[in-house]
Amino acid sequence: MSGKFEFDWPVVGQTKVKTYLQKSISNGSFSHAYLFYGPSKIGKTLTAKLFANTILCEKYQTINQSEQPRKIPCHECDACRQFAKNIYPDIYWVEREINEKTKEKKANITVAQIRATQEKINKRSFLNSYKIVIIPEAERMNKEACNSLLKTLEEPSARTVLILIASTKETLLPTILSRCQLFKFMPLTRDEIYDYLLAQGASRTQAKEMASAAQGRPTVAMKFLADAEKWSQYKSDNSVFLEILSASVVERFKYIDDFVQKKTNEEILAVLDQWMSVARDILLAQTYNNEMISNIYLDELLKKNSIRFSSDKLADLISRMEQTKKYLRQNINSKFALENLIINI
Ligand SMILES: [Zn+2]
Repeated sequence: MSGKFEFDWPVVGQTKVKTYLQKSISNGSFSHAYLFYGPSKIGKTLTAKLFANTILCEKYQTINQSEQPRKIPCHECDACRQFAKNIYPDIYWVEREINEKTKEKKANITVAQIRATQEKINKRSFLNSYKIVIIPEAERMNKEACNSLLKTLEEPSARTVLILIASTKETLLPTILSRCQLFKFMPLTRDEIYDYLLAQGASRTQAKEMASAAQGRPTVAMKFLADAEKWSQYKSDNSVFLEILSASVVERFKYIDDFVQKKTNEEILAVLDQWMSVARDILLAQTYNNEMISNIYLDELLKKNSIRFSSDKLADLISRMEQTKKYLRQNINSKFALENLIINI
């Protein structure tokens, strides 16, 4: 059957994974369950979406009636249109729910959510097409949720495809892994992201700075290019960190006070990752590993700080930032956790 399709999958890189999945679509031989794993923002969810969209596309479902090569997903049929609007009835996203009180995402995917999804997929399909379940943060399933999901994996319903997404495979039960087809997603090289950004219309300077800051994650690079405000926010959050490094204790507390008022817990966690990357950059500047630096636009400031701080001090700061992230995930007051971090620099 291959040769009948032209795949329209705008995923940057991940050639091996794409080729394999597309082949299985061409042969009509896809699995019942998949695990896509690898670092965040490198195309796992986008690939899951395109894979789902492609097998639901009517131009794929009716392929045997045509001899002409077809572009899939076609973006024109009813299924594709509904899919694009997020109203296709037979696709189920299982994501962490929002806590009504705090307006933040709950810590886990619960067993109730898994059971509700199972009930839906066990009903006869209204469209008689595939039913697809996507779990974008599979590692967030608690133990009961995992055990409940296992039942689905052990007794799969016909025409159901389950796609789990996780940062590493180690966070999932071996019994779940053994029933999934595993696909490892790799970070991209800087050159791959640089070339992609140039092709999308970025200037050379933009492409260079954004490709470095993206750290192998094309989705991050794309967002920087598409949203100038996001890019400048990224830079200014990093500037706060550098200012904290050279401020007095009293000033540092002011920075933190101001900072926690503007950000949610999830945003603070993301910024801590950024700050860790700046601290690592300072370490890299000390050892003249300039080609590995993420925040190349900070050039002079990195050099300045690389003289001010010892490598032991920086390594200690990075490990305490990691610890602070753990505290924040345990819902410890963010102001308190950050103050504790910056009081000793
Ligand atoms: Zn279509």
